[in-house]
Amino acid sequence: MAYRQKKWTIFIIALLVLGAFGVFHFRPVHGNALVRPFGGLFGFHGVVSADGEYGGTIVTIGNKLVAERTAQTKSVTQVPSGSLHVPILMYHHIADVGLEVDRLQKDLTVSPEVFQTELDWLSQNGYHSVTLEQVYLATQKQFELPAKPIVFTFDDGYLDVFINAVPLLAKHHFVGSFAVVPGFFGQSGYTTWELVEQAKSQGMEMVSHTETHFDGTSKKFDSEFIRQNLEQSLSELDSHLGHVPRILVYPYGHFSNEYINIAKQVGFVMGLTTAYGQFIRSDSLMTTPRVRVHGAGTLDKFIETLTGIKQFNTK
Ligand SMILES: [Zn+2]
Repeated sequence: MAYRQKKWTIFIIALLVLGAFGVFHFRPVHGNALVRPFGGLFGFHGVVSADGEYGGTIVTIGNKLVAERTAQTKSVTQVPSGSLHVPILMYHHIADVGLEVDRLQKDLTVSPEVFQTELDWLSQNGYHSVTLEQVYLATQKQFELPAKPIVFTFDDGYLDVFINAVPLLAKHHFVGSFAVVPGFFGQSGYTTWELVEQAKSQGMEMVSHTETHFDGTSKKFDSEFIRQNLEQSLSELDSHLGHVPRILVYPYGHFSNEYINIAKQVGFVMGLTTAYGQFIRSDSLMTTPRVRVHGAGTLDKFIETLTGIKQFNTK
């Protein structure tokens, strides 16, 4: 065989081998997922997708997430060693929206019907819901997470969430983690102590979203204000619910190093942001990312955001 011919043969064989492993199908497509076009000879499967709005990109092989790009990293990073793959879903309202609400409000509101389809899909696809406290304990090697763990978080303590989401979660044997603002309890549109206590007795988890939903990075609030506000939220929650986990959900997703330091002094061991990401890194628990669920989205979009795999009219 001539030298030139041999070189081409080797090149083609190499391409076939790489193709079988899905290597050259890793191609980021903004807002879309590209699924490997050939059957996986070795069961390997490469998909890259981008959640355009939040800059998240995940890379999966088979069902396993192997890398992700977050809004902060800007480039695809390998699964950090010692990190856990736990998508923490972020919801705000579970309600039907009227025609008069604005775009932002629509985006923050998932209808009970769509929420139910998301829960059905997660349940049928083997996801197991866990609490934030269990995720924290898993990072400390004090708890073993089930297969396909997932967390449902609900910010702000809206009344509709306690009326609509709690029964649906319970029906699916899922638990929810509610980031509540005790200073707002009883106000129009917000939950009450009674509903919070009831949800807790059904196995739901309550965590602090501060006492008054202040922006911890605003110059208006000095360190003493921050400390007292965080402490008060915990003492109120503790007195009604027993000891609540020391997990803080930052209002507006805003945090600074100073704010984090105060939160740690108050006793918080984990802080949740609004940045996109699915890896829980034990070396940066105070800036744990989440996966936003959009109100205007469809079940297909929800599955794509979670798995990186584009859906075609899931029913
Ligand atoms: Zn909030």
